[in-house]
Amino acid sequence: MSSAPYIEQLRKQFPILQQQVNQHPLVYLDNAATTQKPQSVIDAICDYYQTSNANVHRASHALSNQATGLFEASRLKVQHFLNAHYSEEIIWTKGTTEGINLIANVMSAQLQAGDEIIISAVEHHANIVPWQMVAQRTGAVLKVIPLTAEFTLDIDAFKTLLSERTKIVSITHVSNALGIVNPIQTMIALAHQFDAKVIIDGAQAVAHIDVDVQALDCDFYLFSGHKIFGPTGIGVLYGKKALLEALPPWQGGGEMIDTVTFTKATYNQLPFKFEAGTPNIAGAIGLGVALDFVNGLDLARCHQHERQLINFTQQALMQIPDVTVFASETQKSGAISFVVKGEHNSDIAMLLDAQGIAVRSGTHCAMPLMSSLQCNGTIRASFSIYNTLEEAAAFITALKNVILMLQ
Ligand code: PLP
Repeated sequence: MSSAPYIEQLRKQFPILQQQVNQHPLVYLDNAATTQKPQSVIDAICDYYQTSNANVHRASHALSNQATGLFEASRLKVQHFLNAHYSEEIIWTKGTTEGINLIANVMSAQLQAGDEIIISAVEHHANIVPWQMVAQRTGAVLKVIPLTAEFTLDIDAFKTLLSERTKIVSITHVSNALGIVNPIQTMIALAHQFDAKVIIDGAQAVAHIDVDVQALDCDFYLFSGHKIFGPTGIGVLYGKKALLEALPPWQGGGEMIDTVTFTKATYNQLPFKFEAGTPNIAGAIGLGVALDFVNGLDLARCHQHERQLINFTQQALMQIPDVTVFASETQKSGAISFVVKGEHNSDIAMLLDAQGIAVRSGTHCAMPLMSSLQCNGTIRASFSIYNTLEEAAAFITALKNVILMLQ
């Protein structure tokens, strides 16, 4: 059965998609950067400020109780979404970047000179730079799993990198720059043989892949709300309760304390120990409503639809002379990256924009990967469930026009 009527209905829930850009219907293919928001999320944020705005956990008045109730209900929604065992394992952050910085900072206290941290060749800068900073501070050594010629992480090389010295393995679930899905379940099991702690950057995965942190057995999992139909400025750090309990807090301030004197402070219990200061209350509530939206989807149908979008687009791209696509479509979730011989990626993106088509060009916050691919950047088309096959076809037609125009 065709998914087209279902997708058309679903699309109507996203008001921004109804507009024209540069006198053309908007074709939004930059979903890996951020997803659009359904009306329910927009309404929830507005409703919160109109009816419930107050600070959370701090007062005994009715509005504060209402705000706290909504805020904590969202935490439970995230717990169920990730299948975490305890709600205290869900820590609010600003996003994936802040989550990785938090975990890198608090884990640095356990690192000594010569300890090793393993990341991979396809990491976003958010999963490189915090570890470089920690390595500089502690004398730990950063190791990188290379990519094979087939654009998969080299698992044999990973096995040789792992040793008693490995303390942390921090890997992205799905690459933002290439769209490839990493075999994280296998990698987590391998790392655990050496008692290393495994952190998974789920920024690009959560909108496309069902995530079960207990089945994965990862120690920490991170994502950003804005990449799964939620607002910006809110994200999640999941951590196993026993590990989070054993770690020191990161930022100091309100909410994360139990008692304070001028000589010392004692810390609050989980999850508040890691949530200093007034949180992004509207953002957390909006993210909860975004997850309600996801729970209301026919996910099997959506996953199948996204697969069709990827397959169709990649096949069509591969038939255009001078276009090189990185990695096969079967390895991918959500995004396709490619270059056009002799043309600069940003010229292509600008000329696509003139036709209403929004794609991303450049290094995608993955400069080391671009260097290893020997290119100065790529063009990335990234999909969400509301994209249609007609939009994918419009993108291909527009790209062919652009290439003709440039030749
Ligand atoms: N990790 C990956 C794989 C990403 O794609 C991104 C954003 O594009 C991030 C981390 C950083 O996410 P944020 O900017 O929401 O903190």
